Amino acid sequence: MRKQIVAGNWKMNCDLAETEALLNVLKSQIIPESTQVMVAPPFTNLQHAFQSVKDHPITVAAQNMHQAENGAYTGEVSAAMLKSVGIKHVILGHSERRAYFGENNALLAEKVATAFRYDMTVIFCFGEELIDRQHGREFDVVKDQLKHGIFQISENDWKQVILAYEPVWAIGTGETASPEQAQEMHAFIRRTIAEHFSEATAKEVSILYGGSVKPGNAAEIFGKEDVDGGLIGGASLDAESFMAIVNAFK
Ligand code: 13P
Repeated sequence: MRKQIVAGNWKMNCDLAETEALLNVLKSQIIPESTQVMVAPPFTNLQHAFQSVKDHPITVAAQNMHQAENGAYTGEVSAAMLKSVGIKHVILGHSERRAYFGENNALLAEKVATAFRYDMTVIFCFGEELIDRQHGREFDVVKDQLKHGIFQISENDWKQVILAYEPVWAIGTGETASPEQAQEMHAFIRRTIAEHFSEATAKEVSILYGGSVKPGNAAEIFGKEDVDGGLIGGASLDAESFMAIVNAFK
């Protein structure tokens, strides 16, 4: 059985006090056993967040990390540093990293490899831009991102991969892929994994949808066969909205 996952990507939001306040509300809620709930606060709050949810079924993830083990990379954070404060999950390849910080598939392949060397779980993000969909090349773009960003891993590594399909045109825009569009792409992603690895691996990997998921549309999107949950941006900053999304699985 694939894991159902709802992850909150807080992006560059929430200082320490706000992180504490949001986590306190989440900790007071009942988390359904069937769903893995994750939050990804900014780097400065990871250690605090990890300590805060220690006895709760909430996982804390980082939003990014550097590919090198250590060294002269001013402003960067390594896998070892994340591990040293208890963080074992990392989001890689978010479209904002790709668009604003020049992260390409080759760089992401390096980051993925480093994350696995440190035995971390990777939430690997990818998705086409509006122009790609307008030109009918969304499947080619997604396949390319998978092939060059993450398909270099071994079959065994897939146990520590969560995929997040986030069409760029749906991120922070209020526009979502329709449940049918999400299902069509998720099924394509699973088929692509089956072709390159195995049916068994394709069946086991959780594929999250991200892009303007809200309490009002989560149930319909999560109801699709190949959608195993969501990576939530804006709505994850409000505890009530986030919990409504966590509870949207039927
Ligand atoms: P929004 O939910 O704000 O559209 O953001 C999605 C996202 O980028 C999650 O990583």
